[in-house]
Amino acid sequence: MEHIKHIFFDLDDTLWDFEKNSGHVLQQLFLEFDLTAKLKTDYTNFHSAYKKTNSQLWLQYAKKQIDKQYLRNHRFNLVFNQFDYDNYDENLIITDHYLNRAPKGTHLKEGCIEILDYLKENYHLHIITNGFKEIQFIKIDGCGLRDYFKNVIISEEHALTKPDEQIFRLAEKFADAKKEECIMIGDNFTSDVEGALNAGWDAIYFSHENSKDYNGKHITSLNGLKQIF
Ligand SMILES: [Mg+2]
Repeated sequence: MEHIKHIFFDLDDTLWDFEKNSGHVLQQLFLEFDLTAKLKTDYTNFHSAYKKTNSQLWLQYAKKQIDKQYLRNHRFNLVFNQFDYDNYDENLIITDHYLNRAPKGTHLKEGCIEILDYLKENYHLHIITNGFKEIQFIKIDGCGLRDYFKNVIISEEHALTKPDEQIFRLAEKFADAKKEECIMIGDNFTSDVEGALNAGWDAIYFSHENSKDYNGKHITSLNGLKQIF
């Protein structure tokens, strides 16, 4: 790893525990809005429908088929509809609560601070995240992460999303780095790993399961980075 000088991290579910922070708020809202009665289902079914719908919407957003407003304003109602419930206004109220509370969650992935303290001694650290500016900085600041990173590159600010090669080129410019010096660490195979490799960077795939068909660098916990760096 001697040629590597710059480590770029994804944020959601790589450093910031999106699953835990978001799940916690969804569970609160499910109770507060009595969604058991309205959707005639339990939280587990609601949550898996939400996750599926959310990732489909993000995919459409990345392909520029929908905009941020559409993603936000329809997300919950699209989930409601799967349980034969339709309430656009309530969907907007829930969206407001969700966007207010979820980014304030402070659960980080296990070992996050420890590994950042370890890596910052020898490498320049940066973040590249597909997300919305006002949301991502609440997460970063709320968890005391800001000072670890020289650059925080947020897709929305540049109208570029991972895996678009251009966001990696832009990141090199910000970091004043050559592509051979850069490595990307993230939990999304397409956006983080394939995106980085396609841009001529090195990459580390962070997934809790051992992936069968990927032979590249892989960690199942952040702590695993100590074996690589
Ligand atoms: Mg992620």
